Amino acid sequence: SRVKAGLGKTRVQFSGGIAALLLGRKTLDDDTLEALETLLLSSDVGIDATQTILANLVERASRKTLKDGDALMQLLRETLIDLLTPIQAPLVIDQSKGPYVILVVGVNGVGKTTTIGKMTQRFQQEGHTVMLAAGDTFRAAAVEQLQAWGERHQVPVIAQHTGADCASVIFDAVQAAKSRKVDILIADTAGRLHNKAHLMTELEKVLRVMKKIDDSAPHEVLLVLDAGTGQNAISQTEAFTKSAPLTGIALTKLDGTARGGIIFALAKRFAIPVRFIGVGEQAADLNRFNAAEFVDALLD
Ligand code: GDP
Repeated sequence: SRVKAGLGKTRVQFSGGIAALLLGRKTLDDDTLEALETLLLSSDVGIDATQTILANLVERASRKTLKDGDALMQLLRETLIDLLTPIQAPLVIDQSKGPYVILVVGVNGVGKTTTIGKMTQRFQQEGHTVMLAAGDTFRAAAVEQLQAWGERHQVPVIAQHTGADCASVIFDAVQAAKSRKVDILIADTAGRLHNKAHLMTELEKVLRVMKKIDDSAPHEVLLVLDAGTGQNAISQTEAFTKSAPLTGIALTKLDGTARGGIIFALAKRFAIPVRFIGVGEQAADLNRFNAAEFVDALLD
């Protein structure tokens, strides 16, 4: 599958390292547990999630007599799926909202614009009409990138000049989407990190202004995270939860990193649903997240 192929280096760590470690074993001795711990930590699973995984695995193993070497792998598989199941909740577009508003947040470079493009294509294929709001008014390139994408795919993009007020762009866009009866409005936001306080104040303003038009909006606040940043993804999530009620995560660039284990750390720490995983640069490389599919791709 695309997911399996897309988990590249993280998969090498898991299936290569962990599978080799557990295969053929019928008991979990301390050396094995320690080696397993090292492997999990090296994939950026993080200390908390690693401890949880090891404790659950030991607990599971103690309840059973393991018949063969595969049994331990099966227990690890179940343990990992259990940890990820709470964050498996696909985005469901509520058609009654008109428009269903998705506010996309995240720091520069994580793949926000790319993810917006991929989501747009996916939603169109599912039969929805989509409009985009170029809310990252800080970077001229971000507005141009979104406009170019919109032109190529014939998707309306609401934009103003560089430096315009992000909240004002998004206010216009929600009104335009309402009057044109668009199903889904996807709004980009600025992601500059060097001025965190300002970024967060701006985000809070966007949320306030949006509520003036539609009290239920935004219906989804999607945080885009680059899996390759490893533990930084945790601090970014922490920073954004302070200003915006995050309802979903898109975890990108899983194809280019060995740090894909960060998804376990995110699950353990935040329990925010992972709506999509990015495993490449093509539109089809944005996949819905499924815990069992993900773990199977890692371990197979
Ligand atoms: P933004 O600054 O957050 O809007 O980031 P962009 O959308 O411009 O993406 C930054 C770079 O990451 C671009 O070169 C994208 O093609 C790339 N990118 C985004 N998502 C993925 C992914 O899932 N896999 C890979 N390999 N590259 C990605």
